[in-house]
Amino acid sequence: MADYDVVIAGAGTGGATTAYTLAKKGHSVLLLDRKERDEIGNKTCGDAIGQHHIQELKELVGLPDMPAGIIEHDVNGIDLIAPDREHRLRMAGPTTKGYSFNRLKMGQWFVDLAEDAGANVMASTRAKRLEFEGGRVSGLKIGTSDDSEKSITARIVVDATGATGMLRRQLPDESPIEKTIDKADIMVAWRDIYRTPQYEFENPDILEIYWNQEETLGGYTWVFPQGTHRVNVGVGLMTLPGHRKPQEIFDSFVRTSWEFMETPVETIDSSGGIAPVRRPIDTLVDDNFMLVGDAACQVNPVHGGGIGSSMLGGALAGLTASDALERNETSMKSLWPYNPRYMEAYGAKQASLDVFRWFLLNITNEDIDFAFEKGIIKASDLLDTSMTGKMKIGTGEKFRRLVSGFGKLPLLLRVSKVAKLMDDIRELYLDYPEEPSGLAGWKARLKPIYDEAKAI
Ligand SMILES: Cc1cc2nc3c(=O)[nH]c(=O)nc-3n(C[C@H](O)[C@H](O)[C@H](O)COP(=O)(O)OP(=O)(O)OC[C@H]3O[C@@H](n4cnc5c(N)ncnc54)[C@H](O)[C@@H]3O)c2cc1C
Repeated sequence: MADYDVVIAGAGTGGATTAYTLAKKGHSVLLLDRKERDEIGNKTCGDAIGQHHIQELKELVGLPDMPAGIIEHDVNGIDLIAPDREHRLRMAGPTTKGYSFNRLKMGQWFVDLAEDAGANVMASTRAKRLEFEGGRVSGLKIGTSDDSEKSITARIVVDATGATGMLRRQLPDESPIEKTIDKADIMVAWRDIYRTPQYEFENPDILEIYWNQEETLGGYTWVFPQGTHRVNVGVGLMTLPGHRKPQEIFDSFVRTSWEFMETPVETIDSSGGIAPVRRPIDTLVDDNFMLVGDAACQVNPVHGGGIGSSMLGGALAGLTASDALERNETSMKSLWPYNPRYMEAYGAKQASLDVFRWFLLNITNEDIDFAFEKGIIKASDLLDTSMTGKMKIGTGEKFRRLVSGFGKLPLLLRVSKVAKLMDDIRELYLDYPEEPSGLAGWKARLKPIYDEAKAI
């Protein structure tokens, strides 16, 4: 008999939600993290989340309301600012309502939830190696703070170790799960949190995102106030060949180009981080094995937010694993329903936004300034695209008239093409195979869409 029904490596929001979901269903769960117990949740982040993610989890697995002490400030909208810094679009509506929050307190709350639901939490414990029996995952070798090693057996092992996906990378070559991730699909970032005693943020409920392809190619600079005298500010960009270091960009660009940086600021935290910004891993399961959160590439490819989707992934993985455990069958086939469930709930939108990301990588500051200045992009369209993965931009008559009138026909053609590819890929993800045997054929349909998206 295994030591646990499920062992989850990594107690971030993804792993903790998986543990919470399974423990609530009465399964024996071990949730482990290499960090000390009171440090779990402390990570480089923009510290912002949409309210709708919390609501979704409430409905799916009964997540309670987020305690007030975690929230720093309510968020009511997001401003997108063009490279010229003169034009901005405000996205505001029910889907941009959210919170800026204290990251450590948020992480601690999630682990407490899992523990209170009955999960056994082991902090200061490192997942070292996947262990196998008869070619199938059977448990984990763990290392504790006193440097001792121990084997733990489990019917299912979940890799929720974040962007490193360190257990995923140990799977054998025969596994259908991708082990490595392309560098071009990784966002690198640097961010600081400041108290600004002599500078007052006038609209602390509005998050600001600044586009500038020359400084932050494929990414952006964010300025997220956390009240009138506190701010989370950072830069993120794609790791394309020759990219600059984010800390360097932060120093040369952010420090010199924002008004609040001209006032004395007190640094609360300063650190770097990475996130995978692509479609989800093609299959999230193998025999006795599941992926959740950043380890599964469940991050929004355009804005890099991944807390809500890691919670969603964790809940869906937990619910599917619970069904499989009830059936006493934890094979890949039995865990497979997690795939179509996730792809339908979020993966299809992610894949579509990944196509959009490739398009964004190839547009210039001049293109963006032009689109903002001429009112070609509407805030409501952008909001719609980011929520649904469907692109309306570029299909309107006004867009055609303006763009062709100003000699921007190639941009128009590319926009129309990318909108079609986004639709195609969404449809493909909504047609995700119901059985493992369909995976190879599905991947063969996926490849040409991606190849075309990258070439636009
Ligand atoms: C700069 C930056 C800003 C971001 N801003 C936002 C934002 O504002 N809003 C948002 O929604 N998302 C944001 N994200 C993304 C978000 O942080 C992640 O998508 C989310 O935290 C993923 O959760 P997770 O549980 O999968 O991974 P993580 O939160 O990374 O948790 C993984 C856990 O695994 C543990 N671990 C790792 N290896 C081992 C091991 N070998 N053994 C045991 N434990 C291990 C780690 O200690 C960690 O606690 C940002 C990311 C970056 C890099």
